[in-house]
Amino acid sequence: MKTINQVNGIPLHYARLTNHPYGTRGQQRNFLIDEGFLNTLQKALQEVFEHCPLGIPEVLTTAGIFVDKPGQHGHGKAFDIDAIFWNNETLVTTNFIHQKELYLGIESFLRKHFGIVLNYYYPNHKDHWHVDTSVPVDYNESSKSETLYLQLVLKYIYREEILVDGIWGRQTSGVVKEVFEKLGIKTPITTKANYLKFLDSTGKIAFKLYEQKTSPRHLLNNLTEVIEGLPQQNKLAVREALNSFLDHSETATWLDDFEDVHDLESVIEEIIT
Ligand SMILES: [Zn+2]
Repeated sequence: MKTINQVNGIPLHYARLTNHPYGTRGQQRNFLIDEGFLNTLQKALQEVFEHCPLGIPEVLTTAGIFVDKPGQHGHGKAFDIDAIFWNNETLVTTNFIHQKELYLGIESFLRKHFGIVLNYYYPNHKDHWHVDTSVPVDYNESSKSETLYLQLVLKYIYREEILVDGIWGRQTSGVVKEVFEKLGIKTPITTKANYLKFLDSTGKIAFKLYEQKTSPRHLLNNLTEVIEGLPQQNKLAVREALNSFLDHSETATWLDDFEDVHDLESVIEEIIT
C-alpha cells in the first residue's frame, strides 16, 4: 500500500466533517491505496479529464479509498468520488438530476477502466460514485449497476423512451439495437470491443451535449423531475404552482423563443465521423 494525497496532480480532499461538510471542497488528506489500483485510477482519471470539456479539475473530494471494512475498500482497491471542483464549475454527485450530461460523460469513461461502478441510481450511492476493479470491464445483462447505467444513457443522452429499473429485458435490448445501429457499433453489447466502443462514443456525445448551452426548456424538465420526486403531500401544490406559471400567456410566449438545443443527431454525426 502507498500513501497519496493527489492523483495525476489533482489534490484529493475529504469533505465529510462538520466543519468541512459534504459538497464543499473540504481539506486535502492522505489516503492509503493499493499500488496496482492506483495505476488504474491514474489511467482512468487521465482519460476522463482529457475528454471532459472542463479540463483538469482543481480538487477531487473522496469519501475514502482504504477503509477498514470488508470488500475492496479493505484492500485499498476501491475509490469513492463525492464531487469534482473546477475553477468555475462543480459536479457534486447528489446533483445528478441537474447535471446529467456531465455526470454520465464522466461515468462512461470511468466504466472503460473499472468493472464495478455504482452510481446515483444504485441503492445507497446517491452521494458518490464507487469504483473498483474486482470484476473485469465488460457488459453483463444480469448486472444491475451496468444495466442502470445503460438505461440512464439511453434515456438522457440518446433520448429514448425507456424505464430505468436496472433489469435487462425486451425493451432495453430493443433500444440498444436501435442506438448501436445509429452509432455504427456492432451488437451484441456483451462483446467487450462493442461495449468499449459504446462507452467511448457515449462519453464523447455526453460531453458535447453538456457543452451546448442549456436552454430554459431543459431546466424546466429538470424542475419537473425534481417535483415528481417530492413526497405526495407537497407534490400537488408545487406542480399546480408550476403549471400556473407555465400556463401564463407571457411565460408561454417567452418559452416559444427557445428550442430544445439537445441536438443529438448532429452531435452523433460529429462524433462517429
Ligand atoms: Zn465505495
